[in-house]
Amino acid sequence: MSGQLRTENQVPVRIGGNEVVTSESIAVESPFDGRLLACVPRCGRLEVNAAVAAARTRLAESLPAWRRAEILEEAVLTIGRHADELAMTIAAEAAKPIRSARAEVERAALTFRFAAVEARTLVGDMIPMEAAQPGEGKLGFTLRVPKGVIAAISPFNFPLNLVAHKVAPAIAAGCPVVLKPATRTPLSAIRLVELLLDECGLPPGWVSVVTGSGSDVGDALTHHEDVAMVTFTGSPDVGYGIRQRSPRKDVALELGNNAPVIIEATADWRKAAAAIRIGGYSHAGQSCISTQRVLVHESIAERFLEELLSQVEGITVGDPLLETTEMSALIAPTEAERVSAWIEEACRGGAIVETGGNLNGRILSPTVLSSVTGEMRVSCEEVFGPVVSVTSYDTLDEALRIANDTRYGLQAAIFTGELSSALAAAYSLDFGGVLVNEIPTFRTDQMPYGGHGLSGNTKEGPHHSVREMTRERLVVLHL
Ligand code: NAP
Repeated sequence: MSGQLRTENQVPVRIGGNEVVTSESIAVESPFDGRLLACVPRCGRLEVNAAVAAARTRLAESLPAWRRAEILEEAVLTIGRHADELAMTIAAEAAKPIRSARAEVERAALTFRFAAVEARTLVGDMIPMEAAQPGEGKLGFTLRVPKGVIAAISPFNFPLNLVAHKVAPAIAAGCPVVLKPATRTPLSAIRLVELLLDECGLPPGWVSVVTGSGSDVGDALTHHEDVAMVTFTGSPDVGYGIRQRSPRKDVALELGNNAPVIIEATADWRKAAAAIRIGGYSHAGQSCISTQRVLVHESIAERFLEELLSQVEGITVGDPLLETTEMSALIAPTEAERVSAWIEEACRGGAIVETGGNLNGRILSPTVLSSVTGEMRVSCEEVFGPVVSVTSYDTLDEALRIANDTRYGLQAAIFTGELSSALAAAYSLDFGGVLVNEIPTFRTDQMPYGGHGLSGNTKEGPHHSVREMTRERLVVLHL
């Protein structure tokens, strides 16, 4: 496992505090130009066992809540000190435009800040024992106790902040964690864990990283008998597959979406078009709440489309490390080809490419489609690419019905000038979050964030994650 020669490009992972390299490694390449960024260990069952064993040891010792809070608060400052380096790492490994990468780093610091608050304030409930005659003379309350070792599996698209959303609440909850980051984007996660261990005072073993393919190391980790809970963010097939194969574990799933937004005639639709420029195309549409299905009232449909096209055609596409870049490459050439094929398939079914649709090397140009029908994959599946479809509607009921016609349920939105429409949407849209006069792509890190159906089964945000990672234990004192 350890003790292998570390070459210049080889980045070790930390397992139980030790730097580990393996005989075989995995190349991490830039999705923008294919250059080699680094090599990371190809971990296997041996490394998973060592990481879980170290976590189990930590679980048995006590790290008091005030100390965990101090570590998390130190992490906020440490992330701030290393913000430039972390942003460059995200931009390079994920082809995320540098300005978005910086925003992700700021959000990660905020995630740790909110987790620190949870560590300081987590309590159970008082039980009104005397409300029933047998409870007379008894004092009842609940404690929140850590569930145990957490396996955290993260996706490629927010390689730092979605790791923060698992690691920071786990520390707050008192649960040691073993993290498997996405194979394409492991570098920011590895660096974050180094910083936690080396600069924030987190004792070794509280967080370990195992890099390697999902089907191999991810599978070994999620099925390890000493793992109490799996927290997974990624695609529905993988997430529900893990849950199916681990019926006795708690498996929290944050999955995909094909986010709809309704734009009413009474809305500030120019503002909506400007917001969709960001919500549909930042990180090339590779966000679980990327704006995908735009439903616009027929009376403004033509003018809205014109405005949206002018916004989308103004997007600066290119090198993620340039300050001016708004959108760059998809995570892999195969992904660009997949999205391209879905566009072609939609066109064969009658969809019209209003702009974009061109695959230039690794970059798919920002695309707007019209005449899209509900059964096309660009509509009923999660595109996870820079493709937005625009469909007109007649009545709000019709728009709500189309928006709800999906197996996903993460976030949806409406732009409207009418309070009654806003309320109708809030009550009718069957999603975990409904946004009014904001795109469905909006998220701030303390929000309860999560959906149902193919979108998952949990809520993230430190307040909610800490509760997912702890159990209630009832205590009754007979006085
Ligand atoms: P993915 O292919 O499902 O991979 C997610 C993670 O699971 C990766 O670390 C992957 O490892 C690992 N994995 C794959 N097979 C596994 C297995 N059998 N056992 C354990 N782990 C396994 O997803 P992705 O392409 O990275 O991310 C895109 C998806 O994530 C989209 O569907 C998006 O909507 C969703 N997402 C959801 C949220 C949310 O909060 N709801 C946020 C962001 C993204 P490898 O990298 O080695 O394959």
